[in-house]
Amino acid sequence: MKNKKITRKITQGLYVLTTKNGGCIVDAVSQVSAGDNPLIAVSVMKKNYTNELLKDNEKFTLSVLGIDVNPEIIKTFGFNSMRDINKFENIETTVVDGVNIIDDSLGYMILEKVDSIDCDTHTLFIGRLVEADMFEDGEPISYGYYQEHKEDLLKVTTEKGKTAWVCTICGYIYYGDEVPEGYVCPICGVGRNLFKKQGE
Ligand code: FE
Repeated sequence: MKNKKITRKITQGLYVLTTKNGGCIVDAVSQVSAGDNPLIAVSVMKKNYTNELLKDNEKFTLSVLGIDVNPEIIKTFGFNSMRDINKFENIETTVVDGVNIIDDSLGYMILEKVDSIDCDTHTLFIGRLVEADMFEDGEPISYGYYQEHKEDLLKVTTEKGKTAWVCTICGYIYYGDEVPEGYVCPICGVGRNLFKKQGE
């Protein structure tokens, strides 16, 4: 392959997918048919708990995140699992048609699952749009924008006088002179090599 980086130029967004009892951040969403009730395809990582839930749930929603979204939403839905925390506890949601939608979003789409396709690491779920609403005609946040502004968006304040190591993926703070050998981030699961010493 001459340069795989070109795949990063594929435009992707940032959405919260929710279904009964769970939800996660997704970036690969595409409208794949036209008409009054178009089909929308969304790819979900197999290791996500939400993927398991989608095997049994017939309905799911996509909330479109705006460029000024509260980063807590990205942290909560992107770096945690419903296996460990209740994501709906700290983030304001409204239940529409039995599924939680994110209040701090540009709007939502409710989809009825029509098919799912195995895609190596992910499953592609295809849903038919049955309900939708727009709260705000704002600019959606793109995956590219998020990557570019990740450090600001996930900015953390550390306690003074302590050596802090910040997880560059999720912003979790480890206090100590060195991150121990074999340490993994308790929030997002990455290794110590992805921790950065605060101030460096
Ligand atoms: Fe982390």
